[in-house]
Amino acid sequence: MPEHSFLAYMEPFKIFGNVYFVGTKAVSSHLIDTGDGLILLDTGYPQALYLLLENIRKLGFSPYDIKILLHSHGHCDHIGGTARLAALTGAKTYIGALDKDMVTGKEDTSYANELGYVFHEAFTPDVLLQDGDEIQLGRTVIRAMHTPGHTPGTMSYFLDVTDGEKTCRAAMMGGSGTNTMEKPFLERYSISEKWRNNYPGVIARLEKEHVDIVLGNHIEDNDTLGRYLKMKQTGENTFIDNTAWPKHLAGCIRRYNTLLESEKE
Ligand SMILES: [Zn+2]
Repeated sequence: MPEHSFLAYMEPFKIFGNVYFVGTKAVSSHLIDTGDGLILLDTGYPQALYLLLENIRKLGFSPYDIKILLHSHGHCDHIGGTARLAALTGAKTYIGALDKDMVTGKEDTSYANELGYVFHEAFTPDVLLQDGDEIQLGRTVIRAMHTPGHTPGTMSYFLDVTDGEKTCRAAMMGGSGTNTMEKPFLERYSISEKWRNNYPGVIARLEKEHVDIVLGNHIEDNDTLGRYLKMKQTGENTFIDNTAWPKHLAGCIRRYNTLLESEKE
């Protein structure tokens, strides 16, 4: 197995307030304790579901308290545990409306093929999110922003998180890999080019938002592991960093421009 495998275990930890990292080194998952049940943001690879369950329990939570399974986008590494978790917990599943067909099994655009396995984790989402929708549970309100490009239905999320006296604005950019914006991929699955063509506009919209804490869609987005190790060592919250959001978005545009350049050659 390569180093960056489905099973790249990572310790769970509290990021700030009621937001926790429970994912792996391969894909991020975040748990939000709303005071009236849990929201899980992305469920990882199907092969790593047992690690996700272990991490949730390790933090003292019960997977049975998950009420909402929320997703950044429909690829297999972000929705892989959803069908089984929904069956286990009765949680409602939420995803960007335009990624619906990606998860219902209507067509396999889940990226499982590209990773060399067969996708068996189809589910029917309970709630199809549109731009500006709010997801509310307990004391938590999450605003969804439609930010297509990586997939047609990619959603980014914004929420206020309070720890004691201090409130921070946390956000996740819902997907930024250019692998699924490459022309051969779009052609293979008949995905419109308009989404990728609009991507710079999407990034410009995200850049207008003030964000104190970046929640990585993958750990590379905000150096989740490095920040965690430093926080553990120094006791200071290294996740509160208002330079991380613009830095991540600048990286998104850089990789997008690299893709366009490579297609010219
Ligand atoms: Zn993806």
